[in-house]
This record gives sequence, C-alpha cells and structure tokens, in this order.
Amino acid sequence: MMTKEAIKPVPKLEAVIIQKREGPSLAIIGGGIAGLSAGIYAMRMGINTILIETAMPGGVATNAPLIENYPGFPNGISGTDLAAAFEEQAKNLGLEINYGTVKSLTLENDRKKIVYDEDKMLFVRSVIVATGTESKKLGIKGEEELLGRGVSYCATCDAPFYKDKKVLVIGGGNSALEEALFITNFAASVTVVHRRSTLRADKILEMRARNNPKIYFMWDSELEKIEGKDKVEAAKVLNNKTKKSTLVPCDGIFIYAGYSPNTSFLSGLLKTDEKGFIITDEEMKTSVGGIFAAGDVRVKPLNQVITAAADGAVAASSARKYLEGLK
Ligand code: NAP
Repeated sequence: MMTKEAIKPVPKLEAVIIQKREGPSLAIIGGGIAGLSAGIYAMRMGINTILIETAMPGGVATNAPLIENYPGFPNGISGTDLAAAFEEQAKNLGLEINYGTVKSLTLENDRKKIVYDEDKMLFVRSVIVATGTESKKLGIKGEEELLGRGVSYCATCDAPFYKDKKVLVIGGGNSALEEALFITNFAASVTVVHRRSTLRADKILEMRARNNPKIYFMWDSELEKIEGKDKVEAAKVLNNKTKKSTLVPCDGIFIYAGYSPNTSFLSGLLKTDEKGFIITDEEMKTSVGGIFAAGDVRVKPLNQVITAAADGAVAASSARKYLEGLK
C-alpha cells in the first residue's frame, strides 16, 4: 500500500539545490494526454514528478469536438472534457504542473538539465518527453497573414464563428473529416479540398462525410493562395490533374494537413526520424539513457488518445525502472 508521503508532490523546482540533494526525480515535458497519463502513473508509483506545460493541459486532444473511439465512453466525449478529467486525476494524485515553454534539454554530468521560459532551470534524473505535435502549415500566401481572420487550425475553437458561412477544409485525413463534420453544425456548406482522389481518413468518417448534405469535395486539389484584404474572401485552388486554377469564394479555411513534432528544443539530443519524430523502443526508451518519449512526438504506428495514454503509462513505468537502477 502506498503511503500518503510517498505520493506527495515534489517541492517547487526553483529549488534546484533541494532537488540535487533529494536524488532521483522525474520531469515530464508536455501536458497532453501522454504527459498527463505519465503523470498519473508516476505519482501512483511514488516518483517525485513535475510536469511542465506551455499553456493549457490537454494537447491536441482538446481540439477534438467529440472523441468516439476512446473506450469507455459509448456516446463519445469531447476532447476538452476528457483532457480535463485526465488533468483532474493527475492533480488529485498530487502532480505538480508548472507552466512555461521548454527551451532546451541537455545532459549535465549525471543529470538532465531543462531550461524553461527565459531563466528557469531544472535538474532531474529522468525525463519523459511528451511534447506532441503542432499543425503543419501549408506555407502559402495568405495563410499566416489571415490567421485568426478566416484561417484556422482548430474547428472546436472557431467553427461557431462561421454560422451560415461557406467554409473550406484542407486535407483528407481523420482530422479533416472529423472537423468538417463538426463545422456543418454551424456553416452553410463545407468543401473538403484534398490533394488526391481517395481519402486517408477512416471509412466510418468518409461515409458520414459523403452522406452529409452540407459537405462537398474538391478532389486532386491543392490550395495555392488565400485571398482577402482584412479577412478571408476566397481561395485559389489548383487541380493538380488538369493544372487549372479556380477561385473559390469562402469565409473560412480550416487547415488539417497533418502535424509536425515539437522537438526543436532537443537540438539533436535524441535520435529522430527524418521528420523529427523521436525514435523509441517499446519501453519508450530514446537513444539517451533516462530520457523517454511518449505520445504523438514519437515514431509510432497509430496516433490516438488511447495509444497516447498507453505510451504515458509505459514511459512512467520505464522511468521508474531507470530511477530504481540508479539507487
Ligand atoms: P494525417 O492523417 O497525416 O492526414 C493529413 C492529410 O493532409 C492527408 O490527407 C494529407 O494528404 C493531407 N496533406 C498533407 N500535407 C498536405 C499539403 N501540403 N497540402 C495539402 N494536403 C496535405 O493527419 P490528421 O488527419 O491530422 O491525423 C493525424 C493523426 O491523428 C493520424 O494518425 C490520425 O489517424 C489521428 N487522428 C485520429 C482521429 C480519430 O481516430 N478519430 C481523429 C483525428 C486524428 P495525403 O493523404 O495525400 O497524404
């Protein structure tokens, strides 16, 4: 049976000196589903743990209006509600969450040194990197200029602004179709612009989208340019088969062209694939002893809430084994 003392949170980590004296401890970088799950498991294992999160815990799961494939919720659950439940559970166990953006993770003697924000520093024995991903940008004209003025990467956040409006959704994956379906609750029409003629999304989403009278498809089509003075007014779309461009009037453009890993703060410390996703083994071990990775930030075959949660649990268990080995 775990004693109350064993699950007490670590003291605030400005106290670097105390940390050094206290010995092994764990830092989780990132408070998405993988990081929070790792936090829950680590606290239950009695590991002195701190989680560092940039802004709001929950990660990309909070973008999902309805998660229908996380077992245990037969009617689905919103990403925000699920993430909030993870966070509450972790906090109930005493997990301390510090807010700040991690700038670097380096090795210093037998410790891992984390610098976050401008001047905060943390030395720990073990780290779980669970920094997830960020939306991939198309890099086209108008995308950055009109961000927040018609261009969005989050339907949960912005779809209600498009009541009775004409919206384009870019991409053919699960995110694109899930969000397109969600946007139909508000918009007059949603056109999915996809660069190929077959979708990457799961069949169940494809079927729903194809059967939704508000959803249209533009196949073999790529966004070339977003037009508008103060807000989105139209999109220039290229048909990559006919090589003809069309100007499509619209009020909003939601971009779901996949995700890039948040790994720039590692500056090459860990082995990654060519896209920057961290390579781990099945125990979530990275190429550096004592550093583990969990969730979407690592190379994995299935990116889902359930696999992110599982990764977090495995990473915490591996961190415990690592820390015990140091004793
Ligand atoms: P994704 O599966 O990588 O799909 C990205 C889509 O964007 C693809 O259709 C891709 O086209 C297209 N694309 C990529 N770069 C593009 C570009 N430069 N211009 C135009 N189109 C571009 O990303 P996602 O849909 O965001 O999903 C990410 C992960 O989360 C996946 O593993 C997904 O299964 C998972 N997810 C699951 C659920 C669920 O289970 N309900 C919901 C959301 C996300 P191509 O197909 O031609 O490559």
